[in-house]
Amino acid sequence: MRLQDKVAIITGAGRGIGQATAVKFATEGAKVVVCDLSPEWIEETVRMCKETRGDAMGYAADVRDIKSLEGMVAATVARWGRVDCLVNNAGIVADAQMKNMSEDQFDSVIEINLKGVFNCTKAVVNTMLAQQSGVILNASSIVGLHGNFGQTNYAASKFGVIGMVKTWARELGRKGIRANAVCPGFIATTILGTIPEKVLRALEDKVPLGRLGKPEEIANTFAWLASDEASYINGAVIEVSGGLTI
Ligand code: NAP
Repeated sequence: MRLQDKVAIITGAGRGIGQATAVKFATEGAKVVVCDLSPEWIEETVRMCKETRGDAMGYAADVRDIKSLEGMVAATVARWGRVDCLVNNAGIVADAQMKNMSEDQFDSVIEINLKGVFNCTKAVVNTMLAQQSGVILNASSIVGLHGNFGQTNYAASKFGVIGMVKTWARELGRKGIRANAVCPGFIATTILGTIPEKVLRALEDKVPLGRLGKPEEIANTFAWLASDEASYINGAVIEVSGGLTI
């Protein structure tokens, strides 16, 4: 198993890509901290992880709340002694065309998708520095690379994540810590719920593979990046989109 006994914190792990990532990590032997807002979703993911050969514990934390994130890292270290991997996955959308986008819509997306990634990494980095090892994985998006109609806030947040990843790859590489970003294309989760069915079908048609991605296909990428097989991959921005942008 590729992640045997590695300890991983995954944010937004109650559903979607985060849930699939938690289950994949556990299947690969990891001990997973399932972080999300909703206790019911957390419980469900923990249950799914425990059905594999791995182990899991839940922790309800908002990525906007640095104190509760510090509590989560302390609880992780108390239980399993270390943190080998952080997957910054929690994210939201609040779409509107630029001319209609409110300050609240802009701020809420930046606060979770960008500042939340900073907060979680800040909460975990001293533990990784003390270990002289760790992997910080981050959910960006093809929208962070190319922009998207109605997503000024989301594009800014996901482009910002790439900037932070490249900075951390430089700052932390010599301390044994790798940082990478994954840019999913359109993946079938509830986050796509606001996109009209007709638009989704049109998007699907544009994908050379002819379909939306599955959460498990992003989870597999995170699992590989977290493993020692990816030991020389640092500061990378990996698109997983079925070829949508070629
Ligand atoms: P999702 O199904 O909506 O799941 C997102 C998870 O994040 C939810 O469980 C949500 O909890 C949690 N979350 C939201 N705000 C949070 C906060 N403040 N603190 C802690 N957890 C919070 O989304 P997804 O499609 O799996 O997306 C996962 C990541 O991939 C996101 O960063 C997204 O931007 C990125 N991504 C997705 C796609 C796609 O097509 N699906 C494409 C590119 C990038 P609640 O349910 O309780 O709100």
